[in-house]
Amino acid sequence: MKKTDQINLTPELQEGLEKKVKALHEIIQDIGETYPSVAFASSFGAEDIVLHHAIHQSSNKIAIFTLDTGRLPNETYELISKVKQIFNQKIEVFFPDQKKIEAYMNENGVNAFYESLELRKECCYIRKVEPLIRALQARNAWVTGMRAEQSQTRETLKIKEFDSGHNIDKINPLVDWSDSEVWAYIKLNDLPYNRLHDKFYPSIGCAPCTRAISIGEDIRAGRWWWENPKNKECGLHSKDEK
Ligand code: SF4
Repeated sequence: MKKTDQINLTPELQEGLEKKVKALHEIIQDIGETYPSVAFASSFGAEDIVLHHAIHQSSNKIAIFTLDTGRLPNETYELISKVKQIFNQKIEVFFPDQKKIEAYMNENGVNAFYESLELRKECCYIRKVEPLIRALQARNAWVTGMRAEQSQTRETLKIKEFDSGHNIDKINPLVDWSDSEVWAYIKLNDLPYNRLHDKFYPSIGCAPCTRAISIGEDIRAGRWWWENPKNKECGLHSKDEK
């Protein structure tokens, strides 16, 4: 069943969403005016699609970039092409450092991230964290699609916070959006989304580290499913990890 078919557009949901969309447009406008070199970091999740659309509708053409870890599912690559085409947006792609990848793979093997938390974090550092540092070098703020209810590690998230790891402000315009509101927005605007969402993948990262979840499981349960929920971040959004 399609994810959008599961959303019941009740009057309450639509009314709440209307207020959030209005606030979202104000935030996007404000970000563009306050931070001349801001960039939106898209990983093409459902929340990111909302932001692509809101930026597309805004007169503030905020720069957009993504991190290609080299291990993304094909469905994500398909979506990237679709989004570029539909919204006519330039999306800068940052790749991992080739030498670091070669050294890690030669030393530890192709799928070493399953063996220990240290090796998993090292892989995430090389494929995501270090490219993000490069992507944010010339930026004075960044925008993400993170929401507070996504996981235990994101409960204290704020709409705007100082990212001490990268020494710039981080804006999370959808911080108080619910999963239903994100999907109602996608449905009402007939937006494209990752086909894996229709196969019980609420949160999608690299292919070998993402799997479908069961009914009732936490929405990030399919990410690094073999680890303790408290460790489930890749370092992109951790203040102390770089
Ligand atoms: S999510 Fe998995 S494959 Fe992707 S960077 Fe992290 S450990 Fe490596």
